[in-house]
This record gives sequence, structure tokens and C-alpha cells, in this order.
Amino acid sequence: MPQVSQPHNTAEDDALLGRARQLLRYLFGYESFRGEQEKVILSLLKGKDTLAIMPTGQGKSLCYQIPAQMFTGLTLVISPLIALMKDQVDSLKAIGYPAAAINSQTSLGAVQRTFLEIYQGKLKVLFVAPERLETKNFISAMQGVELSLVAVDEAHCISEWGYDFRPSYQRIAEGIAAISPNKRPIMLALTATATEEVVEDIQTFLNLQSPTVIVGGFERTNLSLSIFALENKRQKLLQILNAVKGAAMVYTMSRKLAEETAAFLQQSGIKATYYHAGLSDEERSRIQDAFFKNEYRVVCATNAFGMGVNKTDVRVVVHLELPETIESYYQEAGRAGRDGKKSYAVLLYSPRDIEKGDYLLSQSYPSKEDVELTYNELRTRLGKSETQTLTVERQLLISALQAKQGKSFGAIKFEATLDILEHANIIERLHGDLERELLRVVVHREVIAEWVERSRSAVQQKIYEQLLRSFGHECFSTSVQFDLTQFAFKAGLDPKASLKIFQEWHQAGLIQFYSGELVSVVMLAPNLNPKKLPIDWNAIERRKSVAEKKFRSIKNYIRYTKCRRNYILDYFGETRYTERCGICDNCLRRHEK
Ligand code: ADP
Repeated sequence: MPQVSQPHNTAEDDALLGRARQLLRYLFGYESFRGEQEKVILSLLKGKDTLAIMPTGQGKSLCYQIPAQMFTGLTLVISPLIALMKDQVDSLKAIGYPAAAINSQTSLGAVQRTFLEIYQGKLKVLFVAPERLETKNFISAMQGVELSLVAVDEAHCISEWGYDFRPSYQRIAEGIAAISPNKRPIMLALTATATEEVVEDIQTFLNLQSPTVIVGGFERTNLSLSIFALENKRQKLLQILNAVKGAAMVYTMSRKLAEETAAFLQQSGIKATYYHAGLSDEERSRIQDAFFKNEYRVVCATNAFGMGVNKTDVRVVVHLELPETIESYYQEAGRAGRDGKKSYAVLLYSPRDIEKGDYLLSQSYPSKEDVELTYNELRTRLGKSETQTLTVERQLLISALQAKQGKSFGAIKFEATLDILEHANIIERLHGDLERELLRVVVHREVIAEWVERSRSAVQQKIYEQLLRSFGHECFSTSVQFDLTQFAFKAGLDPKASLKIFQEWHQAGLIQFYSGELVSVVMLAPNLNPKKLPIDWNAIERRKSVAEKKFRSIKNYIRYTKCRRNYILDYFGETRYTERCGICDNCLRRHEK
């Protein structure tokens, strides 16, 4: 990675930075720049392309917000998510900073007003998604606008999404050239991810010209990092919470474990709760609030508890399972001690967690053969049906695939194959509340009528009649989906008794009946050659090897015997200034008896 920051500032540099500091105080009310902000800003003010790698929360946005005020033209910020744009624009507008966003939710009137402000030179910063740079209207409206700076926020998306989901990410440079063919603006790429592949992709696709590369802000001198390999994590967690006073966060991979851990802590007399994406928005903000006010001491959370954790006095962050990447680990661990006081990040794992991680990885990236077989299975089941929609019980499909591919074809792999087929526009998944029961009569109508008659069972009679009332002839010709509880209610029966009858009929070969989680897909392309599916296998392979490499870095981290902080700083490519942090488990020789 080229490191081109100059050791000494010239008088001209100092003058530029003096102006920038004035703006920092005047606009934002901050006293001084943080971490490497100054270096990034100076590089931009000197007209150089810049790649800044800084952890989340270090203040990347300021790196373009200040120069944007000093440049004569407009600063265009490429941002991946509407929610992110909205947050940024709202907080800028609140301090009177002229900024706006154009995205799919912007009304035509608002777009026109924004362009008017741009043409009048009033707007300093405009946020858009990369896709917008490919729309003709936007390009032609922007032509002639003086573009001083283009900041690509979350620039790792170029690598992570650019290859498949959002190809526009790799065409940003072309879009900019179309807007501003005669004068190339200064380019700034901002990210928290610094692996070599990502950095290389960013430089290549944004076509950065001898950029200044600045990596910084990863060192957290007040954070002590420790790792323990053990089976009884709960007991260790209690020990930690007894030893370290103050607020704590416990990270788990699954919602279930977050809930169970919170319940366990409560039973142990600790005020704890859980937080995950399964909770309603109101519930989530209530918990954040209560945690902020110390009404809870511990929040057990999945990675959904991330952005927006504003609490600065978290004293310890414990991970109960292995994270997938160093980036995500350090980001979560780094939520401890934002106030600068001594804090702890402890990772607890059992050797089985490593196997679990490896297994998850192998399941998350199905092979070409897995995908081809799944496609074939779906197609065969669809048969000659006139509709293109197929609804089947999930477990039934998985079992059928397991019969061909072996037990290693699990539920996670199945979901991953559907994901791949969906992204290639071969299928479309129907979500929403699928009614759980699926039934199809496979014998002639008279056969089933006779069976019911002979049974002399009132319950069977009622079910048969309700079937006719609910579905008419439909259930004799095609599969019908329904909700058993409602069906039983209408028939005046107990759901359990009804279920028993359906199962009996199924056993007897009268009907096909499934009660369980269903998968529903529309086959958009049912007639493809399974061996020639239009899928970018290289992209999948590439994503897989990146994920494997990242998990390897986690495995190396837990096995590392020297300074943990230095391992992390090396990972992010940050120059380190000390040989050892002196406060991690290895520096303190905690594992030596
Ligand atoms: P990032 O994009 O790196 O995650 P943000 O740009 O969102 O970080 O900044 C995180 C927070 O830090 C914001 O509230 C911002 O106002 C604040 N901040 C940024 N720079 C400074 C500074 N020099 N001094 C004090 N606070 C700052």
C-alpha cells in the first residue's frame, strides 16, 4: 500500500489547515480534528485523489464536508443506502449546511428544487446512490455543473457488491466522466475495510490517480483485548461481569442465544435484556434508550445492535461466538470505552465454534452442482403445471436434495442455492405469510367419497364436506394451500382431530398432505439447460474465497500468541508505534500458568 503522507507540512499546508480548522469550529463546533482527518483533508485540499481507511465512528464524513465548503464547485457523495443519505442530510441541514440527496424516494418537485440550488451554486453537497450515475436524466442535468470533489462513502461496496448485486458500483468512474468530461474532479474513497483485494478494487475501479492512502484511527489504547477457549461460557461471562463493573454488551450470532443469555443473566440477578432484528422498531428504540440511561446493565445482542449505539461508557464487550471477520469483531469490540477509559473486549469460544464456523462457510457457498440439482428439482416438481408458481414444504425439498447430494445439503445451503437462483433471475421467491398446510387429492373423487362413507366417521364426513365448501373442484385438480386452524374452525372441529384425519388420508394414499414450513417460488425460467444456468460462478467463487480468507484471519487471531492489538493494527494496515500494547491477555501472559 503506497504511503504518501508527507512528514512535514509546508507554510501553504498550514494555511489551508488553518482555514479548515476555522470551519470545523464554526460549522461543527469541534475544537480539533480527530485521528487522521487532518491528513485526509489536506490531501484533498492539495488536489490529490485520496483513499482513507478509518474505522466506523472516526468521523469519515467530516473529511469531505470541510473541503466541500472550501471548493468552488459541488461535492458529490456516492452513498449505498437511502437511510444513510437521509441521516447525513438531516444532520447537515440541522446545522445549516447546504446539503441534499436525490434518490428513489425524492419527489420530482424536490429534485427540481435541488437542481435549482445546484445551478445557483447554493448547494455544496449532493448525495446519490451509484445507480443514479447511470441514468440519462441525471447525467444530462449534471452536465455543466462544476464538480470539485466526488466522495465514495463505504467504498468497499465496489468490491463486495460491485461484482454482482450492484454492478453500478464498478462504473462510478464512467458516470463521473460522462458528467464532467473535460475536468476530472478530485476523488475520495472512504471505507473501514482494508484488505488488499478491497483496496486494489477501489483503486482500479475508481481509477484513482496516484492517491494518498491514509489508514488510521484503529488504535484504541484504552481497550484491553482477551480471548478464552472454554466450554462453560456462561460461567466465564458471569465471572467477567462480576469483575468488570459498569455497562456491558454481549454479542451472539443467533437471536436465540441472545435471548437465552439475557434470561440466564436475569436469573443470576443482573439487569439484562436482549436486542435483535426480530424486535419491533419501537421495542428496539426503547431498549437502546433504557440501556443509555443504565436501566439495563447488559444488552445481549446480535449484530443488529450496532449503528446507533451512542453509549460511550460501555466497559466490556463480550463475544460468545466467533465473529466472521476481524472487521466486524473489532467494530463490535470497539463499542467498549468510547469515553477513553479503560475497557475490555473479551472473546469466548469453544473449539467446536471453529468447526461450526467452517461448516457455516461451506453451507453458505453452494457448489455449481448443488445449484444445478436444486434447479432441476424445482423444475421437475413444477412439472407441466400451467402456472409457474411452485409451493412445496421446505423440508420435503431439502430431503429430496439430501437423497441426491448427501446429508451435507442442509437448510442453510438450501437457502443459499435459492438466493443464487434468485439473483440470476431464474426464480423469484414469494415471501409473506404462506399458509402452512398444503393438500392435493391424488385419487378420483369417488374413491375418497367412498372411503369417508365406509369410515362412518362424523369427523371425516365434516372434513370432506368442508373441503368441498372451501375449494370445490380445485382440490381434485391442483394443490391447495390453507390454514388448518381456520379450516377446522369452519368445519366445527378441533384442529388436532382434523390434522389426524389428513395424516390418515395421506398414509392411505388418498391425498398428499403437508403441514410445515412452505417454500413458494415462481419459476421465471423453467426451461433452461441445468448445466448452463446463466450464473456468474466466478463471482460466487470469489466471494467464497474472500469469506474463507476473512474467517482464517479470525482463526489466526484467536491462536495468536503475541500482542493482540498489534495483530489487529497489522490487519488494517495501520502503522503501529509500539511493539506491544501491554494490556491484552498475551502481553499480560494471562494464559501462562
Ligand atoms: P464514520 O463515517 O467514520 O462512521 P461519522 O462521520 O459518522 O463517522 O462521525 C462519527 C461522529 O463523530 C459524528 O457524530 C461526528 O460529528 C463526530 N466527529 C467527527 N469528527 C469529529 C471531531 N473532529 N471532533 C469531534 N467529533 C467529531
